[in-house]
Amino acid sequence: MTEATAVRPSSIPSTAPMIYYQVAMPQPESHLFEVTLHLKGYSLPVLDLKLPVWTPGSYLVREYAKHLQDFSAQAEEKSLPWRKLSKNHWRIETAILDNGVSTLTVRYRVFAHELSVRTNHLDTTHGYFNGAALFFRIPEFEKQPIRVAIVPPRPEWHVTTPLPVVPGQLNTFQALDFDTLVDSPFEIGCHELHHFEVLGKSHELAIWGLGANSNAEPVRMISDIQKIIQVEAQMFGGLPYERYVFLLHLSSQGNGGLEHKYACSLNYPRFGFRAQDKYERFMQLVAHEFFHLWNVKRIRPKALEVFDYDQENYTPSLWFSEGTTSYYDLVIPLRAGIYDAKSFLNGLGKEITRFQTTPGRRVQPLSESSFDAWIKLYRPDANSGNSQISYYIKGEMVSLLLDLLIREQHGNERSLDDVMLKMWQQFGQAEIGFTPEQLQEVIESVAGTDLDDFFKRYVDGTEELPFNQYLEPFGLQMVGEEEEFPTLGVKAITENGRELIKFVESGTPAYLSGIDAGDELLAIDGIRVTATQLSDRLKDYQPGDTIQVTVFHQEELRTHSVTLAAPRSNRYQVITLEYPSSVQKQNFEGWLGVPLT
Ligand SMILES: [Zn+2]
Repeated sequence: MTEATAVRPSSIPSTAPMIYYQVAMPQPESHLFEVTLHLKGYSLPVLDLKLPVWTPGSYLVREYAKHLQDFSAQAEEKSLPWRKLSKNHWRIETAILDNGVSTLTVRYRVFAHELSVRTNHLDTTHGYFNGAALFFRIPEFEKQPIRVAIVPPRPEWHVTTPLPVVPGQLNTFQALDFDTLVDSPFEIGCHELHHFEVLGKSHELAIWGLGANSNAEPVRMISDIQKIIQVEAQMFGGLPYERYVFLLHLSSQGNGGLEHKYACSLNYPRFGFRAQDKYERFMQLVAHEFFHLWNVKRIRPKALEVFDYDQENYTPSLWFSEGTTSYYDLVIPLRAGIYDAKSFLNGLGKEITRFQTTPGRRVQPLSESSFDAWIKLYRPDANSGNSQISYYIKGEMVSLLLDLLIREQHGNERSLDDVMLKMWQQFGQAEIGFTPEQLQEVIESVAGTDLDDFFKRYVDGTEELPFNQYLEPFGLQMVGEEEEFPTLGVKAITENGRELIKFVESGTPAYLSGIDAGDELLAIDGIRVTATQLSDRLKDYQPGDTIQVTVFHQEELRTHSVTLAAPRSNRYQVITLEYPSSVQKQNFEGWLGVPLT
């Protein structure tokens, strides 16, 4: 679908109402969006309005309706009775209208005070919203086009959204249907707006938040974004749009993105651009969200083919939608020349470390992690590290293994890129949802081999990933670096002047002795210890030594005798083999595009 087909008001059936929203924000300091819904030509006895409980791309029921207030409904200056049928469902009685056909007006306010890519934010500097958190879905008419007029509070505020404008109408935009409205974030304010082209398609970068020019250097940023777009377009054989919008929020410490078909929203620390490593992470975020315009926005798991905005949409395949995207967000900046193979391997080592130091990888299979995203990944607790593995990180690791497996078997003539292209051609272009079986079939067809065993072990099972078996043909190996101190098994941080134990790893000495996440760490062997001193203090002991650990547990002073265990690897690196063969050198160069050194 292209922008050209996005505006088609002439296709409205005569029986369907015209749906028209107005979004005003006369007092931005109140954080209240004032929304008016006009329905012209409505003729049914009741009108059902439902606010989505979640937004695609962020798999958590967020209960957007909790921010809605001051609901009212009118027709021809008469108030209409209404009642709520559930937390997100409003029903208006429209039968009292004389002729049965009328213009209805619904008014409500939405509190917008959460700055994230998936929520709404309004203050004196800007307004930002996601359709799912602001607009009602009308179940009978969700395929109807929807018009949205924005009323900025000040004349200098302008509007950026991927939706096409309605010609001749100020700040008025048209969405093809409700899905498109939900998929089109709005940025309203005095944000910087940069225009650029790639492959003849127009792109915009809107930047809100102080700090952009002091360290973000839009010119350099845009040049690197252009390279990323080119690399990804090459992978998928072109760009499936006419216009794409990057919305960038510079904030104090946020770090996140939300993908859309024609846009992405990015939230990044305002001072996170000058240091090279932070800049590279930002480019990975760009590569990630942009990759999603294919993988997950168009190449969708079956359960996400048609969104159910009223409840959870369960799929075991988010490991492919998110994890494979995460693998490519590491690979693409390398291909785009934003960093070199050394940085890539460093980054890979960090990702492997994250995976290998999460004990939950031995408990939760990857497909289950995906399925339970709604109750687990987005709702971490003290036990999450022990019982769960993120489908992002393990999905990334499994994608790495699959890429290496395919490349090795086909001398780099085939790769995971071919899987992506095939998924795009077979499912993405026509937006047909894929089943887990179909995904496996496509991967097997590219790999040219049966992968039942691979999926059983690493996707549906919890067997350890054999990194070295897959890295070795590329002249590489994963090595763990042993800590210089014996293992206690806690992670502690300093919070509000207290030393807090945030995580106790199952099976470790601390765990077995009864130390709990949430305990306040006080002393080792009677001497005060802080979170930052902890590793150093443990260096004074040997494995097998018994120490006294004193904590406050729910205000009670407790001392635990803990027998320390052997040191463990808490850091992993991917390094080159000492004497790689010519085949290994060839494989490496075919994968990463530079000679193995
Ligand atoms: Zn993602």
